[in-house]
Amino acid sequence: MTIKIKVLKHPELTWYEKLYFPQIISGLLITIKHLIRFKPITIQYPEEVKELPERYRGIHVLPADDEGEIRCVACKLCEVACPTQAISIVAEPADDYGIERRPKVYNIDFMRCVFCGFCVEACPCDALRMGMKYELSSYNRAGLVHTKEVFFDPNVKSHAPRDNANFLYEMGKGEILDNPEEIDKVKELTGMYTES
Ligand code: SF4
Ligand code: SF4
Repeated sequence: MTIKIKVLKHPELTWYEKLYFPQIISGLLITIKHLIRFKPITIQYPEEVKELPERYRGIHVLPADDEGEIRCVACKLCEVACPTQAISIVAEPADDYGIERRPKVYNIDFMRCVFCGFCVEACPCDALRMGMKYELSSYNRAGLVHTKEVFFDPNVKSHAPRDNANFLYEMGKGEILDNPEEIDKVKELTGMYTES
């Protein structure tokens, strides 16, 4: 097999290009044009706060249910979905509240979190959302591990049924048999919050 080789010659500069001054002047004209039509693209933070897009993925929020209580049922699907293992949940029984479990501890380590949103996608009962806050600083490492007391926002409401998470949790333990009706229910539940 023959290989074709094409030799490219270095382009010769014309006498006009060799002067260089016209190029320097045209560059300066572009700079002057931008100076005259000056339009700032920076903002004076923190006096000015940037308006963020609706789907911005900021610091997480744990929404409340209709009674103003935390919506999460500690199914741990978000913990499993997290690629950086930033979430740690310890569950406790919540029979008094008519559900199987609720989180006793719900922490997110922001030294690990990459704000991918997988945890929110994994949640079957809309108990975790990406918020709009992005100011995240601390004088020590412990301050970057946020607890549920920090995330929980009673003003953010979720009306999604808790049964979704209980059902998927049972399914994850293998306690729900593989029959078409149950598969349809899983499809319905898992697809419910992916549409927006
Ligand atoms: S946003 Fe991504 S990295 Fe951060 S806690 Fe959720 S799944 Fe983990
Ligand atoms: S997936 Fe949702 S309900 Fe389950 S533990 Fe995470 S936030 Fe709570």
